[in-house]
Amino acid sequence: MNIDFNKSKGLVPVIIQDCLTLQVLMLGYMNEEAFEKTKKEGKVTFFSRSKNRLWTKGETSKNYLWVKDISLDCDQDTLLIKVSPDGPTCHTGMYSCFGEKTSQGFVYELQNVIEQRIDNKTEDSYTYQLYQKGINKVAQKVGEEAVEVVIEAKDNNETLFKNEAADLLYHYLVLLKSKGFKLEDIEAVLRERHKNK
Ligand code: AMP
Ligand code: ZN
Ligand code: ZN
Ligand code: ZN
Repeated sequence: MNIDFNKSKGLVPVIIQDCLTLQVLMLGYMNEEAFEKTKKEGKVTFFSRSKNRLWTKGETSKNYLWVKDISLDCDQDTLLIKVSPDGPTCHTGMYSCFGEKTSQGFVYELQNVIEQRIDNKTEDSYTYQLYQKGINKVAQKVGEEAVEVVIEAKDNNETLFKNEAADLLYHYLVLLKSKGFKLEDIEAVLRERHKNK
């Protein structure tokens, strides 16, 4: 990674993004030393301009930011780090320095959680256990949940209907992952169909 530290006094701005919600959590600065420490330890260390020293986020609060992905912008002078936060990121106790967690896009957050459970082989997770039973079993579950949605649609218990609809959506996401697809791939199909409307 060829970071341009020379542009502003040895510091580059670093955007911190939650790897699951994709919300921006905070912005900090790193010098080369902070960057190397971050890579070595797997948790975010900034160079604090107010403390004038290396600052590992969470050093007193224990709300560390665990690195999941690091990328550079187009001209190599800004970093974007996706993290898994241990707790609230803002020192005020807020989830993010830019506000509270929103529920917008929760289906994508769930998709990211499902992906992590499967990719990390989380043994005690229902998602991973279901995934391990193979495509046929996952597809069968989608079928069962779809039938349950049909049954509840004919009834008029709203709670039961909503719960079965949620089961269907969750299992559908697991099936997409099992087939190697993402919701975005299916959206692309729908978008294409919609093009001439
Ligand atoms: P922490 O790194 O979470 O243990 O916090 C240590 C100190 O760093 C706090 O008392 C604040 O002064 C400062 N601080 C913590 N989080 C932030 C943040 N998100 N933005 C700016 N300053 C922060
Ligand atoms: Zn740039
Ligand atoms: Zn803050
Ligand atoms: Zn169900």
